[in-house]
Amino acid sequence: MTNNDDEIRFLADSMLGSLAKWLRFFGYDTEYYRDIEDNRLLEIAASGNYVLLTSDRELHARAKSRKINTILVPLRSLKDQLVTINKKLGIRYNLKPRVPRCVYCNSILTKPKNLPEYLKNKNDVFFCPTCKKYFWEGRMWRNIRKFYTELENMIKSQGNTDRKPTSFSRESMPETPKGDKNDDKS
Ligand SMILES: [Zn+2]
Repeated sequence: MTNNDDEIRFLADSMLGSLAKWLRFFGYDTEYYRDIEDNRLLEIAASGNYVLLTSDRELHARAKSRKINTILVPLRSLKDQLVTINKKLGIRYNLKPRVPRCVYCNSILTKPKNLPEYLKNKNDVFFCPTCKKYFWEGRMWRNIRKFYTELENMIKSQGNTDRKPTSFSRESMPETPKGDKNDDKS
């Protein structure tokens, strides 16, 4: 099975911690450093072939001038940020990604063989080998599903769900992400 989405690696700037967590939740390889200088961030983005996510116009411009793949995400809301990335890259968000990741550290989660007693009757339990934490569909899943439904509706209403992922064009990145304006298409 090939899936181009799996090959995308994101690097989120220090203001985008929540976005980084959600991208990891959807299975995307996303690096995030809470405290890092812009120069170092650009170095990492360039050397690791990351897509740099930032809300900082100046950092975005600097990345572009160095031919680093970068997306200027709006600071408004998480959903707006996720929709912007969906529109730019054509990636999909999946509640049950093929390769689940730890939202705290980005490690790939494993399926534990032996569950602790309190998790014995739970389905779909995953384990982070780095954080030593278990993940399962607990009570917060209700909120997660609500968030996800609203996100999917936003993506659908903006009419780009079936767009083929295009290869990332380094030359033709517009300064302002399309869809930032409230253009009423529906
Ligand atoms: Zn972890």
